[in-house]
Amino acid sequence: MYRDVQLHIAGQWRAAEGGRTLPVLNPATEEEIGTVAHAARSDLDAALEAAAGGFKTWSKVSAYDRAKVMRKAADLLRERVADIARLMTLEQGKPLPEARMETLAAADIIDWFAEEARRAYGRVIPARAAGVYQLVIKEPVGPVAAFTPWNFPINQVVRKLSGALAAGCSIIVKAPEETPASPAELIRCFVDAGVPAGVIGLVYGVPAEISEYLIPHPTIRKVTFTGSTPVGKKLAALAGAHMKRVTMELGGHSPVIVFEDADIDAAAKQIAGAKFRNAGQVCVSPTRFMVQEKAYDQFVDRFVAYAKTVRVGNGLEEGTQMGPLANERRVPAIEALLADAQQKGAEVRTGGNRIGNKGYFFEPTVVTGVSREMRMMNEEPFGPLAMIFPFADFDEAVAEANRLPYGLASYAYTRSAKTANAIAASVEAGMMTINHLGLALPEVPFGGVKDSGFGSEGGTEAIEAYLNPKFVSQAGL
Ligand code: NAD
Repeated sequence: MYRDVQLHIAGQWRAAEGGRTLPVLNPATEEEIGTVAHAARSDLDAALEAAAGGFKTWSKVSAYDRAKVMRKAADLLRERVADIARLMTLEQGKPLPEARMETLAAADIIDWFAEEARRAYGRVIPARAAGVYQLVIKEPVGPVAAFTPWNFPINQVVRKLSGALAAGCSIIVKAPEETPASPAELIRCFVDAGVPAGVIGLVYGVPAEISEYLIPHPTIRKVTFTGSTPVGKKLAALAGAHMKRVTMELGGHSPVIVFEDADIDAAAKQIAGAKFRNAGQVCVSPTRFMVQEKAYDQFVDRFVAYAKTVRVGNGLEEGTQMGPLANERRVPAIEALLADAQQKGAEVRTGGNRIGNKGYFFEPTVVTGVSREMRMMNEEPFGPLAMIFPFADFDEAVAEANRLPYGLASYAYTRSAKTANAIAASVEAGMMTINHLGLALPEVPFGGVKDSGFGSEGGTEAIEAYLNPKFVSQAGL
């Protein structure tokens, strides 16, 4: 069912030189389900050479023709969704319907970027002298190095891949070693659709070794990374030292601000559903739930009631709403956050424990009685952990929302248009969604501020991330 995963270099699917591999585990069973090839230095050199050649070829293909190939890749992805979603659930753990949704959403993302690049217009600037034309032309930045994590094995790749390809760049993807097969199948769709050899490279290995080699390499002109803030800062510093453009999509600790005039029952149900999606392993996962005092008890009751109904299990089983954590190290990480909070006086209202002793299952967990000294109130939990606490007024909620160095997603619930406008203007975040869940569509910006990163992976900004403006001033002869 699962298959061993190879590298893709210079148009070939192949093993790593020297044949090195690492096992891939199913997080629901802890069984080894396959292997992934680990690139050697010589494989990286081959991928770089291919990317340089691929850039020459692909940047000369018109946006119109690039879009045709990309749309074909999107259609192949749709055709293959059943197989690919199954691979994703096996390696990542998420429920099969979520894996299907991620795969189909990826096809949508490809289509959008393919079309949008056809509108990557430059401009004409009126000149001061007669007969002079001042033009701004958009050119692809060059070969891209992309580093992506395991929480959304396809989505994290497809945004980078689609933006880069649509703009005319070649790209080397360092995909996640824990969840390698589904991103490989995504790339197979592009290869089968006719993307020329060298335009897309796919490697796996020791992440730090690969990033430290690719980022400074003169062939690479742009770096894009999704992952934790500490790693992002390291990679951005390295990119800066070599003057490479970057997009950094990093961690978050998203505040949810529920005002007492909101529809409390509906808000609790909706946002609790968002919390436990992908077992909370989502950069935009709602995490610090602050509820205005009068509505606090009602919100906690509804939220806890919802958490208790979430069906945790193997993602392949029908009816599973939350799978296991994606890898073993997330279990002690969550346990340590909980132990710290309990020792400092927090109350676990539901959950709090690992489930069973096979597979990395963890209970949907709700904690109250939290204080700012607790680690979970400061560090991204990246798991099914919700902290709920009361606030008195608008200013207190804003101060708490902006207390942390993160600034990725934020959420608010209110029936007042005045409060909605004011909260959107006051929270330091790259994204805010009010009274509904409205993030991450291909056509809207996706990214953070402060320690959550730099740049966007959605909307027109995400194409601009792969384009350089060139100014041409031309006088008549
Ligand atoms: P981690 O910090 O070790 O790794 C995060 C990701 O970065 C992984 O995909 C990893 O392969 C990659 N990585 C690590 N060091 C690297 C390097 N030197 N060069 C290139 N890539 C490198 O943490 P983890 O245990 O895998 O995940 C846990 C933490 O990572 C979470 O707490 C969360 O903050 C963050 N994370 C964020 C996202 C996101 O969507 N923003 C996704 C996955 C993980």
